[in-house]
Amino acid sequence: MKKNQHLDIAIIGAGLSGLAAAHFIKKIHPDYHIQIFEKSKRVGGAIQTHTQDGFIAEAGPHGYLDNVDESRELLNDLNINQHIRKASLNNFIRYLCLNGRLFPIPQHPLKIIKSDIMPFWSKVRVLGDFIKKPVESEQTIADWAQHRFGKAILPFIDAVITGTFAGDINKLSIDAVYPGIKKLEKEYGSVIKGFFKSKKTRKKKGLPAMTNFKQGMSFFIEKMAEQHSIQLETTVLAIKPDQDSWKITSDKQIFKASNIIVATNINQALNLLNPVEKSPFLKVPESRIANVVLGFEASGIDIPPGFGYLAPQKENRFALGAMFSTHMFPERAPEGHVMLEVMVGGRHHPDYMELVDEDLIEKCMIDLTSLMNISQNPVFTHVIKTKEAFPQLEIGHLKIQAYQKNIAAKYPGLFITGFGWNGIGMNEMIKEAKTVADQFSTKNERSANPEQVKGIYF
Ligand SMILES: Cc1cc2nc3c(=O)[nH]c(=O)nc-3n(C[C@H](O)[C@H](O)[C@H](O)COP(=O)(O)OP(=O)(O)OC[C@H]3O[C@@H](n4cnc5c(N)ncnc54)[C@H](O)[C@@H]3O)c2cc1C
Repeated sequence: MKKNQHLDIAIIGAGLSGLAAAHFIKKIHPDYHIQIFEKSKRVGGAIQTHTQDGFIAEAGPHGYLDNVDESRELLNDLNINQHIRKASLNNFIRYLCLNGRLFPIPQHPLKIIKSDIMPFWSKVRVLGDFIKKPVESEQTIADWAQHRFGKAILPFIDAVITGTFAGDINKLSIDAVYPGIKKLEKEYGSVIKGFFKSKKTRKKKGLPAMTNFKQGMSFFIEKMAEQHSIQLETTVLAIKPDQDSWKITSDKQIFKASNIIVATNINQALNLLNPVEKSPFLKVPESRIANVVLGFEASGIDIPPGFGYLAPQKENRFALGAMFSTHMFPERAPEGHVMLEVMVGGRHHPDYMELVDEDLIEKCMIDLTSLMNISQNPVFTHVIKTKEAFPQLEIGHLKIQAYQKNIAAKYPGLFITGFGWNGIGMNEMIKEAKTVADQFSTKNERSANPEQVKGIYF
């Protein structure tokens, strides 16, 4: 790129959000001059596949569900069908670790009520949802769930939140994380009633499938990146409105752009946005996990069928849970081998991230050995600890979401999307990126509907 060239659109961050935004905008405006700036040596941000000795593991996402139109559109456009690998929730169960044992859990929250892993009187208490009045003020997920369904539901809710946020249900805000569920509660006076009523208006599609790629999730990102102009190893240090455009100061050059899309993780975005407009706080809490990758000869371990397991906090176990990776995607290990990816750390145990690899592996092995039959040591071990963390949408996050809306409305040409503002999942990032792109064609206010009810699958 030439020095001081004026860009139509500057995108900060070549993670999923930045790349997906570039993709959808380019589709509508192939003539726009879009430049992406990325501080790292590589694209992908939190998404990074680790391949070694025929084992394929993920530092970040292990998959996303194929039930979101925007994600399907993106995948179709990339034309990489032969590389897609899917694992359907219809065929795969997940387990909850309760009292030191693995219990298969139904893939849908309401089916938990029908199953026999909850005592009779606790099921009766769940029906309290029909009469409990909604609480107006912002609530933690734990307070909200206990108020509506009773205490016995908490381990299940904890497992869902461990599997998505590696978070703490006593801190995360139900209003910020699941605004759609709070909306159902308000509209229908009951979440269960609201769920069934709104279900009638939704098309019946069956359970979705977890999506990844033969070569791992990085492949998806690299395919997207091929189509765009990306300046790697360029850190944007400051952004400033400058008459009717934006001045972007990086560690390499100063640029001007008519529009700027801040597509970084929320905390990196707040660093850039706060000097433009003071934000209510400078940082949201984060949660980090280590992925302890264990490869075995197939004869050396008896992994139960299914996707994996999650352990609620009250079980006090070392690992948060494990993905049975080769049950989902068999090509992730060499012939005759299987692989598990064990998650450690999270919001409750940041101290575990300080442990050396050998300790992490040993403690995970002890944990797993009490849950399944392991007759041989692993033949492959690798610990992935990334600097990327899950932003936590904890109590108070509504203020930061309001800040995002206000600043984007106040400054023309400024668009904000990315990890941790309104959600943390890949589908949510792709949806938001599409909304940003749509704003370029319509110049509309934010049209995304964060209050849509998100499916909850474990
Ligand atoms: C361990 C882990 C596991 C996950 N598992 C799942 C899963 O199974 N399923 C799922 O759906 N989601 C999962 N996620 C979430 C998913 O990874 C995110 O939704 C997604 O990757 C976020 O993309 P992003 O582009 O918004 O942010 P990021 O990935 O953080 O990318 C932002 C980019 O901006 C760059 N950047 C930051 N500041 C600057 C600057 N000043 N100048 C230039 N560049 C800058 C960064 O280097 C980075 O590349 C997981 C996340 C983590 C961390």
